[in-house]
Amino acid sequence: MKPFVYDRIHTEWKEWMEEQGEPAFRADQVMDWLYRKRVPRFDEWSNLSHGLRERLADSFNLHALETITSQQSADGTVKFLFQLHDGHAIETVIMRHQYGNSVCVTTQVGCRIGCTFCASTLGGLKRNLTAGEIVAQVVEAQRYLDQAGERVRSVVIMGIGEPFENYDATVRFIRIINDPLGLKIGQRHITVSTSGIVPSIHRFADEGLQVGLAISLHAPNQELRKRLMPVSRRYPLEELLEACHGYEEKTGRRLTYEYALIGGKNDQPEHAHELGQLLTGSGSLVNLIPVNYVPERNYTRTPRNQIFRFQRILESYQVKATVRREHGSDIDAACGQLRAKHMNTERQSS
Ligand code: SF4
Repeated sequence: MKPFVYDRIHTEWKEWMEEQGEPAFRADQVMDWLYRKRVPRFDEWSNLSHGLRERLADSFNLHALETITSQQSADGTVKFLFQLHDGHAIETVIMRHQYGNSVCVTTQVGCRIGCTFCASTLGGLKRNLTAGEIVAQVVEAQRYLDQAGERVRSVVIMGIGEPFENYDATVRFIRIINDPLGLKIGQRHITVSTSGIVPSIHRFADEGLQVGLAISLHAPNQELRKRLMPVSRRYPLEELLEACHGYEEKTGRRLTYEYALIGGKNDQPEHAHELGQLLTGSGSLVNLIPVNYVPERNYTRTPRNQIFRFQRILESYQVKATVRREHGSDIDAACGQLRAKHMNTERQSS
């Protein structure tokens, strides 16, 4: 298997060009073809010599993703199901916001974290994606938006997988899409979401990055969190919050806490009061998310009025809370749904 073009950062292209006896500016030209012109054929990279184009084609693979299917919602959300070179399927979503287009990327094929409200973990972890396989999702999303003359403004690393279980590829991905010669996505427009892998939060704080961090909290106390998120047995809530404060101090960036409301489990007024007490004075934002229906778990959704009551209770503790807008409710937009459907169809036909 040849290495994949999108796995390489700019300096590695420079090194490769040097090895080939080519001037360093050729690396800039490669970046230009990959990220600005987005031409998916080496033989059309017309400002490179024929010989160099052939050497590139002999040494690298330009295609990581084949589109199996895509669905477009009435609200503009687009969901892609991509096939990787080894046959695994992953999901990528474009969401339309007033402030611009955001792309949600996947970092792993499946997930081993085991959050009880999540469909993506049901089949376990198959493998990590490479940085280039994550970059290619954004490039494909940008190609789709090119048709309408639009661009990707922000990226959320919140699709299938736990990004900090694929740490090196995630950080490399951030550096590639942030590169001024790459897709030029500003660091402040990139958000990583983690279930709370404490050592990686510490490590991430030292990367010198200015990206947003979102913590999947989903419970106001350790007992309940352990039941909903087995990861909390390894990294208890108290340790997690300490790591979060450390991250905020080092980076000067406020965190967001994600809280999926699950009917009767964590959505009662007493949970809101406990969460308010836990986060009061932190200055952090809580993002309330109506949980996605997962048939295997039999979880129910919290009614809208109850969500707003939960929000008001948090605000009474001066904790800022927003209710996440739902995207693509008329398509299989919940994380893992489209992939799960595809896997079921594959199973039935084999
Ligand atoms: S919510 Fe994220 S970390 Fe938890 S099981 Fe699902 S994909 Fe994994």
